[in-house]
Amino acid sequence: MPDFDYDLFVIGGGSGGVRAGRLAAAMGKRVAIAEEYRFGGTCVIRGCVPKKLFVYASQFPEHFEDAAGYGWSVGETRFDWPTLVANKDREIARLEGLYRRGLENAGATVLQSRAVLEGPHTVRILAQDRTVTARHILIATGGRPSPHPALPGFEHTITSNEAFHLETLPRSIAIAGGGYIAVEFANIFHGLGVETTLVYRGKEILGRFDMDMRRGLHAAMEAKGIRIVTHAIAHGVDKREDGRLDIALSNGETLSVGAFMLAIGRTPNTEGLGLEAAGVETGPAGEIVVDDFSRTSVETVYAVGDVTNRVQLTPVAIHEAMCFVDTVFRGKPTKPDFDAIATAVFSQPEIGTVGLSEDEAARRFEELEIFRAEFRPMRHTLSGRQERMVMKLVVDAASRRVLGAHVLGPDAGEMAQLLGIAVKARLTKDDFDATMAVHPSAAEELVTMYQPTYRVRNGERV
Ligand code: NDP
Repeated sequence: MPDFDYDLFVIGGGSGGVRAGRLAAAMGKRVAIAEEYRFGGTCVIRGCVPKKLFVYASQFPEHFEDAAGYGWSVGETRFDWPTLVANKDREIARLEGLYRRGLENAGATVLQSRAVLEGPHTVRILAQDRTVTARHILIATGGRPSPHPALPGFEHTITSNEAFHLETLPRSIAIAGGGYIAVEFANIFHGLGVETTLVYRGKEILGRFDMDMRRGLHAAMEAKGIRIVTHAIAHGVDKREDGRLDIALSNGETLSVGAFMLAIGRTPNTEGLGLEAAGVETGPAGEIVVDDFSRTSVETVYAVGDVTNRVQLTPVAIHEAMCFVDTVFRGKPTKPDFDAIATAVFSQPEIGTVGLSEDEAARRFEELEIFRAEFRPMRHTLSGRQERMVMKLVVDAASRRVLGAHVLGPDAGEMAQLLGIAVKARLTKDDFDATMAVHPSAAEELVTMYQPTYRVRNGERV
């Protein structure tokens, strides 16, 4: 039996790689993990975590406004961008340290280097210019914002990566895209006082989400003052002498802004990884092709997380990593389960969702009962804020199973986590009805919608 330097070599220190490396090392496996940039990956360093901190920062102006109805007078307020960036960076550095120490404490060898594949069992550690061998190799190199080199003036654009470290906050910004990142950043920038325009090529933002959520959020964002231009893409970007950018749109309009951010999807990090040499197959978007157990076309090489372009979410990468450890090191072959993934868009108001949208359910089920409530949440009564909350349950009429649950409004992300349990457990509308309400709360609406608002039969609303 050949002797390898390690039982597992992990390439990439993000959510998926760190979890797999830590678990395997804690089992006594000989593990090495290489990261070329910072441990924590996209989520911790330039994704979910700093984004959420920015979301909190951007919510204060509305809190200040709302305070008046509750009797508070808030004096003059001032926002300091460098303070936010510095405090955010300090928190990120702390978390990065925790990730690294978690690996070290579990007994993994932590390597600060780019690593590339040289064969089914061989990895080259570039910073040390040496190769090591491992029985199994896990690729968890994640992804990066998709560039748009075909766009004239592309060099003047930024992505979410740069948005976290802008030296100064622009007075105005345009954001291209209609997905999670575009929508979340549009709300962040607007909340921080930046004049914000979202440019989306389609008809309605946030494809794949329930239409009530998409329309409701669109309306709420516009009511706040975010401009949303649909059916348009940028044709070119010109930088003026004063630094401002002129963005020519396909609808003939020219936007003049301080910054232009692209949020048009993410691309798997597979270039220069030695995949071809090792015989690891990639797909059309450059993603690593894996089977149901996250195994690549090379028997000893596995891949998890965004680099496989399955579902680009941190908890999914972590789940895939845990399934990988079960499969390879615990003798318990486990397929990642992608059914009913609860998720949130940290827009303002938030969207929290799990399961099927109405449209998707209508394509798969003969008859649906839709329970829908739209109301002004109690917290907006004294504040006078006009924003409305939307809650929706999509129920299979035949089995009474709740197929999807969708919330637009304050704390929707937190609700989605709990709704996720109910939908994952395949609970029925009767289980929801039998659940006592928590009163007074907004979430109680989810268990007190007794009569269907309407039905959908063979795809038609009746
Ligand atoms: P998404 O895939 O969500 O959205 C990409 C958007 O860009 C779509 O609206 C798409 O339009 C549009 N687009 C694609 N190509 C072009 C183009 N050439 N020109 C103009 N528009 C284009 O990607 P994001 O970048 O927003 O996010 C990446 C992933 O990160 C998400 O899939 C999500 O899983 C994850 N994420 C999750 C978050 C969360 O859980 N809260 C937060 C942030 C990111 P169309 O709809 O027409 O295809």
